[in-house]
Amino acid sequence: MPLTKVSKNNNGAFQLTFQNGTEIETAILVLAIPCSAYESINFEDGIIPDQKLEAIQKVQYGANAKIIVPFATAPAATTGLVGDEIISFFDQAQQLLTVYYTGTTSLFSPQTIANSYNQARPMIERGFENYPSFTPPIYAKDEAGLSYDGPVGYSWPNDPYAKGTYSYIAKGQENVLTATVEENDEVFKTLFAPLHQNLYFAGEHTSILFDVPGTMEAACESGERIARAILQRLKML
Ligand SMILES: Cc1cc2nc3c(=O)[nH]c(=O)nc-3n(C[C@H](O)[C@H](O)[C@H](O)COP(=O)(O)OP(=O)(O)OC[C@H]3O[C@@H](n4cnc5c(N)ncnc54)[C@H](O)[C@@H]3O)c2cc1C
Repeated sequence: MPLTKVSKNNNGAFQLTFQNGTEIETAILVLAIPCSAYESINFEDGIIPDQKLEAIQKVQYGANAKIIVPFATAPAATTGLVGDEIISFFDQAQQLLTVYYTGTTSLFSPQTIANSYNQARPMIERGFENYPSFTPPIYAKDEAGLSYDGPVGYSWPNDPYAKGTYSYIAKGQENVLTATVEENDEVFKTLFAPLHQNLYFAGEHTSILFDVPGTMEAACESGERIARAILQRLKML
């Protein structure tokens, strides 16, 4: 359930308000949402210092989308095709072609996905002799465990809870996104260091694994480190 508001109660605990009106009180809060989602949440004054909140909201995200196309029979030869903003690669084992959209081409919606698919077809038909005949692509549902028979796509920049794919260090953010600080034997990015020992930040963007940014490894590293930091904090109480 989307979090919409974070405030503080008189007893110092966090009061979380969710989109369906549910309210939860918690002594410790871990924000594991992408930076792009912070603008949709109302943080009461003082929860996150203004300058920090502004810097978090400025973290940039990649713009990518995919349409996956199943092949009934494997192509004789597989080719990786590269256009200006659209590329494709073929998974031989699963007989699936991934059409990968970047930049403005990634901004398709359920209404415009068929146009985006058509835009890529001339390039891909040139590379694959047995490219499947046109079946309108389905826009994937944000649900786990579903399966699709035909082409299916999704645009992460248009997902209101992602608003992009993975974080990156944009020009001018080299210092703010690489500075680190050590607290109680754990290292944190300074921007995402815990606040008041009860507000923690997790997610790939907070990771200190600088050689694998924007990955599952980075996300897991942050989660494990924040769990350790909270355990350490609880031991000190
Ligand atoms: C197309 C694509 C391909 C990728 N390929 C790879 C790959 O091959 N290898 C790899 O290692 N990594 C890959 N990644 C990156 C990897 O998926 C991410 O780095 C990782 O999932 C980030 O984890 P996270 O927990 O930081 O964020 P997320 O997995 O994005 O989790 C954040 C969660 O916060 C939720 N949220 C947002 N706003 C709110 C709100 N207001 N209230 C409540 N919840 C909210 C979101 O719904 C989401 O569930 C890929 C990512 C994309 C988009």
